[in-house]
Parts: sequence; C-alpha cells; structure tokens
Amino acid sequence: MELERHEYDVVVVGAGGAGLRAAIEAHESGARTAVVCKSLLGKAHTVMAEGGIAAAMANLYPEDNWRVHFRDTMRGGKMLNHWRMAQLHAQEAPDRVRELEDWGALFDRTPDGLISQRDFGGHRYARLAHVGDRTGLELIRTLQQRTVALGIDVYMECTVTRLLTDDQGITGAFGYWRESGRFIAWRAPSVVLATGGIGKSYKVTSNSWEYTGDGHSLALQAGATLVNMEFVQFHPTGMVWPPSVRGILVTESVRGDGGVLRNSAGNRFMFDYIPDFFRKETAETEDEADRWYEDKKNNRRPPELLPRDEVARAINSEVKAGRGSPHGGVFLDIASRRPAEYIRKRLPSMYHQFKELAEVDITAEAMEVGPTCHYVMGGVEVDPDTEAARVPGLFAAGEVAGGMHGSNRLGGNSLSDLLVFGRRAGAAAAEHARGHADRIELPDEALADAARAALAPFDREGGENPYTVQHDLQQTMHDLVGIIRTAAEMEQALDRIAALKKRVANLSVEGHRQYNPGWHLALDLPHMLLVSECIARAALERQESRGGHTRDDFPATDAEWARTNLVCSRAPDGSVELTRQPLPQMPSELAEIFES
Ligand code: FAD
Repeated sequence: MELERHEYDVVVVGAGGAGLRAAIEAHESGARTAVVCKSLLGKAHTVMAEGGIAAAMANLYPEDNWRVHFRDTMRGGKMLNHWRMAQLHAQEAPDRVRELEDWGALFDRTPDGLISQRDFGGHRYARLAHVGDRTGLELIRTLQQRTVALGIDVYMECTVTRLLTDDQGITGAFGYWRESGRFIAWRAPSVVLATGGIGKSYKVTSNSWEYTGDGHSLALQAGATLVNMEFVQFHPTGMVWPPSVRGILVTESVRGDGGVLRNSAGNRFMFDYIPDFFRKETAETEDEADRWYEDKKNNRRPPELLPRDEVARAINSEVKAGRGSPHGGVFLDIASRRPAEYIRKRLPSMYHQFKELAEVDITAEAMEVGPTCHYVMGGVEVDPDTEAARVPGLFAAGEVAGGMHGSNRLGGNSLSDLLVFGRRAGAAAAEHARGHADRIELPDEALADAARAALAPFDREGGENPYTVQHDLQQTMHDLVGIIRTAAEMEQALDRIAALKKRVANLSVEGHRQYNPGWHLALDLPHMLLVSECIARAALERQESRGGHTRDDFPATDAEWARTNLVCSRAPDGSVELTRQPLPQMPSELAEIFES
C-alpha cells in the first residue's frame, strides 16, 4: 500500500481557533507539532464568527469581572456546565484576548482607546471584544499568521478518518489527501481533536460542509466518551428566504445593537415569553427595554436578548401559532430603530449578506429570520484543566469538547472557549508527549485496515448514493430531533437511524480517488450517523426540558436531572451506550456567587 508517513509529538486535527491556539502552545512548549485540516488553512468555522469574543475585561463596565461572567455562563447553561471549565474560561478569557492583540489582532476601540465590548444575549454587561461583525476573521488571521511564522507544519485539505491506538492509548492518526485521494499516517503520542461541530446532520443549519461531527465520532470510536449530547443549540435568527440560503446566520449583534423581533401583527412578542428564571433581570415594557440601550445601569435588558434557547423557542411558537412572516419566520427589524449609516458601520457583513443573497436592504426594511441549527454543546468529555479525554494521549478543545457550556452556550463564549482551552490542550498534549514519544509503533495491519475501510465504497457496485442518505438523515434530524422533541418522534428517529446505518454499510461511489466529493461524503456519513444516534438517544433519555433540549412531553425542568449528566460510550458491538453520571460538586466559594 502506498502511504505517506510522518512523525510528530503532537498532531492537532482541526485548524479553527481551538486547533491553531493548541498548535501554537504545543510548539512553544517544545513539541514537534503538526496541524491537519479538512479544508484550506483559514477556512475553518471560526472564520464565520461574527459577534465577538466574550471576556470580562471591564473596559466599558468596571463592575464586570470573572465572577459575573462565570455566573452568566452557568445560568445560561442552566447550571449543567462543568463548574471548573466555566471558572477557568471566565478567569482566563481576558488574558487570551489581550494576548491576541499582542499578536497583532486589531479590535474595535472605545473612545478612550480600549478594546471595545458589545452587548450579547445572557451577558450582564457589554463583554464581547469585536471587530465589526467579522471577529472570527481577525481571530483566525492572527492565529494563522503566528502558526505560519512559527514554522508549524500544516497539512491542509487532508481529512483524518481514524485515530490509531494501542492498549496504552493514542499512537497516531490516519487520513487521506482530498486532492489526490492518497493515504497519509502520522505517528504521534498525542492527538488534539479540534474539529468543531456537527451541524451538517441537520437540514437547516448555519454550519458549512465540514461540520460532520468527525471529531466526536473519532473520539468515541477510539474509546473516549461524549457528554451532554442531547443539547443542540438552535440559533434564533437564521435567514429563511430564499431557500438556497436558508439557515445562514444573522448575528445576534443585530439585536445587541438595537434590532427587535416582531410577528406578523407587528408586535414585539418576546415580552410574552420571559421565563421566571430571567424575569428579575428582564425589562417589562418596551420603554424600559429601549432605555436600556442608553442607560444600562438603571434599566433591565430587552427580552430579545434572553439566551438563545428562549428566543428560538419563542419564534418557533409564534410561527406555529400562525403569526409568522410570509416565508415561515418572524421579522427582525433594525431599519426602523437605527440610522442607515450606523447599521452599515456596525453590521457591514449583515448588510451585504442580505443585499446580495436576499435582495433586502436591512437599513430600509425588516429581515425575515427563523431558528437554525448552530452549535453543539455536547462533546468529548475532558478533564477541565488539561482537556484530556479518557483515552491517554487524546485531548479535545473547542466545539468538539463538551462540558463547558452545559445545556446552552451564550453567544461569544465559543471564541473565548477556543482560546482558553485550545491553549490548555496544546500545553497538556506536549507534556504527555514528553513521556511517551519512544513507546509507540504503527503496525502495518492497523494501517491496512484503515485504508481498506476508506476504500470500501469503491468496491461496491449499485449501492446507496451518499447524497441521498445524507438528505434522509438531515430530514430525520430536522423533523424528529429538532427544537421541540417528543418520545414517540425520537423513537421513530432512532428506527430511521438504524435503517440509515444499514444503508451506509452499502454505500457505493463512482469515479476515482482524485478529488471525489461523493467519496468524501461517504467517509463523513458514518460519523454523522454515530453523532446523530448519540443526540437522539440522550435526548430520549432526558425526560425534562433544559436549555437546548425541549421536550413537549416533559416541558418543565426536573430537580433530579439538574444533578445528572448523560455520557455516551461505544459498546464492543458498536452500539451507543448511555450512562447517568452525577454532576461534579461545585465548591462552596463558587456556589456562593449564586446565592448573593
Ligand atoms: P472550527 O473553527 O469549526 O474548525 C474545525 C476545524 O476542523 C476545521 O479546520 C476543519 O477543516 C477541521 N476538521 C474537521 N473534521 C476534520 C477531519 N476529519 N480531519 C481533518 N480536519 C478536520 N462563537 C462566538 O463565540 N462568537 C461569535 O460571534 C460566533 N459567531 C458565529 C457565526 C457563525 C456563522 C457560526 C457558524 C458560528 C459562530 N460562533 C460564534 C461559533 C463559533 O464560531 C464556533 O463554535 C467555533 O468557531 C468553533 O471553533 P473550533 O476551533 O472548535 O472549530
């Protein structure tokens, strides 16, 4: 078998914010480091992030500090977050933003020349460091430049299909070059997964083609565990029209900067959906909500800035009640509330996105928006301090890791998560490699087996078409495991997933190995199915509603479930097993933050 081979201390799979930050840290800790990414360097999901990086820098509100950020994050996640991750995240995010600036990132400024911070849902104070609505682009540009300047090896347009292990842990990774279809293997004692999300398992999503849950699935197959998989975030505002762009994100900054949601009767309906949990800190009248933009100290936040799960459910209910917009969403109006020049300056990407894709001028008319699958809270279960998974030598950071966001992520908390935990994962992976570099081997048979599995779709004739199977999976997840869930529908989803698994075992592709997207999809599909099964199983098991998991048949939160995490592992026969696990105990000095 023709195979390109390499040796490193640390291989980072994924070149978004988490992967690049991990690679920089591993390299600076003295490890021989490589980054592998499925698409071109710089074209990770992170580049699409618009609103900003959440960090309690107190540039606008001196009252802000890590404790308030920690509290907001835990409350946003409905207290299911791993407290230690939420603590480290809130404490370290400001340093990570300042470090990014030292490395050349150019943030928007306050009149005093400090890094400017903007409002976002669920954050008590204006906290998101930003660059217009193109923050992710600046973050990636900065990290990418540093990665290249440090001379870190990058394998781009290269997909990892299997993690290699022996009885003591990680030994490397196996993959293929997308362009040539040739195989490649890396021998390495440490692998950091930073592969992002799973959105492509759903029909309407803000995620791009790469987000097929590869890292979640690779980790599970290697013996690691996934936590919180039932929690999928539906961002309240995706485009709904025209159909070709359905799901593309409309940033929360539109609401942070004054935009409001209205139904077909012109009502600001979010006032009808304020849950008791957030009532004390949410404005009761439109006047108070509008005053908040000018005077945050003496007024409470508009209900349009409630956490995403609340807003997405409210929009869903308005549309279901027949009060939606012509194309099945609701109206997001900033045109009647802010001058055209302000909108173009604060939201340049949104202005162009609607102009070019929908022929809508957002400075003159309202946008039509509706929920879109955006982010997965669930992911690889890791040690909070080192991001180590249960398999020695395996680490995970960024969206692929679980625990940090509990049942619902606050906007802006992902970009800070990538930086905080990417750095920690890189350092721990380098440390692990120091003790294990000489031990490992890559046996020929394991490599031949990985190659055989990858080539199998070429050997079958007249089998299933990968695009048809993908379409059926996306429809299933959209219809049966979406925003509002019931036991009967999820049981149906699991039956369909079982049938889709059989069809995936019979996929066939035509043509050859050179740049063959049908073959690439055939290799992604088993990951998508495994992750979808974890989501559906965990969602069926959790008989309550919390954050990004709403059960029509169990609409309330439940005290017992408030203490319980669901953990997915893989049984020897390949099936997904679920275990109930008690939440880690929060120390009293942190618990006091919620009592005061
Ligand atoms: P990604 O940036 O998703 O990168 C994943 C990497 O893994 C890519 O390089 C990909 O090629 C690679 N990869 C995947 N599978 C494989 C494989 N098998 N082999 C090799 N490589 C692989 N969050 C915020 O905090 N603030 C925001 O303002 C914000 N705005 C957003 C706007 C949009 C439109 C979207 C979609 C998300 C937004 N988010 C935001 C969320 C945030 O951008 C993501 O959660 C975050 O960027 C994920 O980063 P990551 O490093 O974990 O992975």
